[in-house]
Amino acid sequence: MRRSVLAAVVVSLAVAAGCGEARKTEESGVKSEEAAAPAFGRQQSLCIFRETCGDLPALEHNGDLYACDHFVDPAHHLGNIQKTPLVELLESPAQRAFGQAKADTLPGYCLDCEVRFMCNGGCPKDRILRAPDGEAGLNYLCAGYKRFFTYCRPFFEDLAALCRMRDEITAKTNNRGVIQNTGG
Ligand code: SF4
Ligand code: SF4
Repeated sequence: MRRSVLAAVVVSLAVAAGCGEARKTEESGVKSEEAAAPAFGRQQSLCIFRETCGDLPALEHNGDLYACDHFVDPAHHLGNIQKTPLVELLESPAQRAFGQAKADTLPGYCLDCEVRFMCNGGCPKDRILRAPDGEAGLNYLCAGYKRFFTYCRPFFEDLAALCRMRDEITAKTNNRGVIQNTGG
């Protein structure tokens, strides 16, 4: 009985915390599920916050394929789908290298950042500033990202912990019910 009451309280807290933070983060312009994903052990769905990218090429009307719609230029031309199968272009070394470079080119300032696992330096096209130590490649949105992710991180970590606690209590309650039913 006590466990069911505790489970109900935990679920209520989790839902309340989730609703409040969801509202705050969505008002800030970043979807709450993007900021919450790492705390729940999930990968972000937006390429800009993932560790690597390269899964969203741009296809032109004539069949030309480019690494990304922000990089439609000769240096990022992968080929033409009228000559080469799309999957071959997507899996080409050039496109894999493009996606991996998102992680490999982060400045040391990002590598040392406490919220890197949430931000991952943002989109490479926005990395036009120099870090405080002078190294190139810092995202011009860094100040906002850092402030936002630092603010919401503890809320989502608490929410994830509450959800794990809820799941554990629910599992134990269910198991006890199964044992009682089997025994009776
Ligand atoms: S370059 Fe930016 S927009 Fe393009 S796939 Fe990578 S993160 Fe996404
Ligand atoms: S918040 Fe700033 S320093 Fe931290 S990972 Fe993002 S861009 Fe880099």
